[in-house]
Amino acid sequence: MAKLISGKEVSAKVREEVKAQCEQLKARGIHPGLAVIIVGDDPASRVYVNNKKKACAEVGFISEEYALPQQTTQEELLSLINELNNNPKINGILCQLPLPSHLDEKAVINAISPEKDVDAFHPSNVGKIMIGDYHFLPCTPAGVMEMIKSEGIEVKGKNCVVIGRSNIVGKPMAMLLLHEHGTVTICHSRTKNLKEVCAAADILVAAVGKAKFVTADMVKPGAVVLDVGINRLENGKLCGDVDFDSVEPKASYITPVPGGVGPMTIAMLMKNTLMAAKLQNGLE
Ligand code: NDP
Repeated sequence: MAKLISGKEVSAKVREEVKAQCEQLKARGIHPGLAVIIVGDDPASRVYVNNKKKACAEVGFISEEYALPQQTTQEELLSLINELNNNPKINGILCQLPLPSHLDEKAVINAISPEKDVDAFHPSNVGKIMIGDYHFLPCTPAGVMEMIKSEGIEVKGKNCVVIGRSNIVGKPMAMLLLHEHGTVTICHSRTKNLKEVCAAADILVAAVGKAKFVTADMVKPGAVVLDVGINRLENGKLCGDVDFDSVEPKASYITPVPGGVGPMTIAMLMKNTLMAAKLQNGLE
């Protein structure tokens, strides 16, 4: 039986710490602020944005929502970002992705000032993560690392396998494991012998976007299994990329979905916003 790493519990600790530090900043007259931009009316994006605003209120940040209509033009969106880049009350800017297809996501990411880029998607921040000299951690992979650390699991020298190579999860995840001295393999849709590669992992991270993709035969006995996936089943329930019921008896640690990596991502966003406020006030 695997030990469950609860994202609810670990994220609550992170948010507590952020809240305490936010109070210290407020006592010095600094009130951290996050601007959240949402374009259109995608229901999943709306849920994410609401959760982020709720988390801001809980830790004591100001949050400003900019809900723009579906037909917003690229110029209008870039002009808002420019305004927020120059607004001293706003320390962090987040533009909820995906954007409607007529908007250029890459140009939007590039327009956010790297100092306010609390998602750590700007190429300048991505480069800093690559060389291991960064202030902003990519939220989801950082959340996974926090979960690993919360159990005192050592990464050094371990075989780490990441399934998925997206810019927001797979690649930065691999980089953070590498910074902790893991021996890292990144798998993707063209990987040969995926089952064998995964079955050699001491630490296995699934970021595929396919429900129950990782089955027990892909998992080494005693492996640590971290499930980033968020998939909605036909019955409306959320499910990860790992077939929890078959993998859980084989693993030593496992993260559930829901209540696993999801809440960690938002907690790490709060941590980044706090860091942005400190940086912009010369405190880091
Ligand atoms: P992407 O769709 O961008 O990437 C999926 C990756 O999985 C790709 O690299 C793809 O390979 C790989 N893949 C797809 N099929 C296979 C296969 N058969 N074998 C091996 N690899 C495969 O997804 P994201 O990285 O954005 O997200 C991954 C999951 O994590 C999703 O479920 C998403 O909802 C969830 N997520 C959760 C977050 C959280 O807060 N918990 C935050 C962000 C995402 P290739 O590159 O070759 O196409």
